[in-house]
Amino acid sequence: APGARVPVLVVGTGYGGSVAALRLAQAGVDVHMIEMGMSWDTPGPDGKIFANTTKPDHRSFWLRTKTKQPLSNFLGFPLDKDIPRHTGILDAEEFSGITVYQGRGVGGGSLVNGGMAVTPRRENFGGVLPSVNAAEMYDVYYPRANAGLGVSDVDPAWWESAACYQYARVGRKHAQRSGFPFVFVPNVYDWDYMKQEAAGAVPKSALDGEVLYGNNYGKKSLQKTYLARAGATGKVTISPLHRVTSVAPAAGGGYTVVIEQINTTGDTTATKTVTADKVFFAAGSVGTSKLLTRLKATGALPRLNNEVGKGWGDNGNVMCGRANHMWDATGKVQSSMPTAGIDNWAAGGAFAEVAPLPTGIETYASLYLSITKNPHRAEFSWNAAAGRTDLSWQTAWKQPSIDAARTIFDKINAKEGTIYRSDFFGGSKIWGDHLTYHPLGGVVLDRATDNYGRLHGHPGLYVIDGSLIPGNASVNPFVTITALAERNIERIIATDL
Ligand code: FAD
Repeated sequence: APGARVPVLVVGTGYGGSVAALRLAQAGVDVHMIEMGMSWDTPGPDGKIFANTTKPDHRSFWLRTKTKQPLSNFLGFPLDKDIPRHTGILDAEEFSGITVYQGRGVGGGSLVNGGMAVTPRRENFGGVLPSVNAAEMYDVYYPRANAGLGVSDVDPAWWESAACYQYARVGRKHAQRSGFPFVFVPNVYDWDYMKQEAAGAVPKSALDGEVLYGNNYGKKSLQKTYLARAGATGKVTISPLHRVTSVAPAAGGGYTVVIEQINTTGDTTATKTVTADKVFFAAGSVGTSKLLTRLKATGALPRLNNEVGKGWGDNGNVMCGRANHMWDATGKVQSSMPTAGIDNWAAGGAFAEVAPLPTGIETYASLYLSITKNPHRAEFSWNAAAGRTDLSWQTAWKQPSIDAARTIFDKINAKEGTIYRSDFFGGSKIWGDHLTYHPLGGVVLDRATDNYGRLHGHPGLYVIDGSLIPGNASVNPFVTITALAERNIERIIATDL
């Protein structure tokens, strides 16, 4: 209710927010979660909750009138099309030098991502989160996160013969013929469900190419894991289509939180004020960084330190495709859930996910999303004149990522006698260097916060999402975001409640 006082308010319902909500509720605390996106629990006119990747409709994009697909072109044809403006599930948020893709809705990025659930190699962890005790993470919090997320490995025998992983087997052959380690990675998809999809026994989801705009059946998004358990405690409420716009110290202690309710075309329909004893920022790397940068600059939270808004990176994301020979068909039906990658991190600074290209036709293409050791870090700043928060990332900063990815793919192309595809990103661009799926940092652990996510300067304010990780996770990030949240919330519950 407006004007109410709550013990804990959580901004955002992605990985960090869901971990905080579950653990606080289990400790007996009432938790209110605020989520700007929709609840994604009601079927649309076609009987399904989520739109298909090949048929983007009003459900696909966050408040856009035209789609902005990561692969903008195919065989020379532009793919983007007009759609009605709606609070859809995938936000392609544009800054001057980069487009940042993010999930919008109850479950955050877990609604739209590929489900790749990767724990970094232990020898790389010191470069990911230098202030965190690695032994504790690998003994306690990574296992806890993997269990909570429902992570598991694909059945290798089934994978070897499944038509939907032909593309991944071609990826393995090419990696191994060039001497690169090919590593399987776990996923949160229900593999038994996928086997039944392949057998034609159940409605298809991964095998119908569903991923970017949500997954109707087999993927264990946060709605099915952490948030389901949080809901079952009876102590967690979620307000979808509500956006937090301000947090400031309240006269009688705690924080005054201003929340705008929006409708499905994005207009504000009500403004509400709540007082919270504690606020957890879990709006994602971009959401949390933007909010805190503005609140510091405009004087709402004047005592935040100068690290707020700094240390943002793109996890070194860069995409590319290769054109295969006719004898290396990648398959008409490709599972949208990736299972493996090419690991050249130690030698070349790149870990390349063998990605699906679920077009429904044979493309003879191999697609890769590389995670690379890119040293560049950008900064958020409040642009008062324009009334928005800017990000200093420059497109040219992707060059180290391209160079790292080329340590893998130049070699494979030379060995196979193949070339890069140049028809995916518009013009004759080979590299998808305009985007990231993995925003990280902006409110870095042990700099803008203490070593457990407590914001400096304002007791009772916490950050518990990807903005704590300083720009690179060496692999896909959500397992690390979840494990760090598990670590931090355990300490906060033990000492701050
Ligand atoms: P998020 O999951 O982004 O959650 C933040 C939530 O806060 C969102 O729901 C947002 O709507 C909400 N919010 C933001 N601002 C406000 C506000 N002011 N008020 C209220 N609510 C707000 N990672 C992997 O590990 N493996 C993968 O296979 C993988 N594939 C990906 C594929 C795609 C297409 C994308 C986009 C991402 C992928 N990722 C993957 C990345 C992963 O999803 C993110 O790293 C992760 O979701 C970040 O978690 P988070 O808790 O920091 O925030």
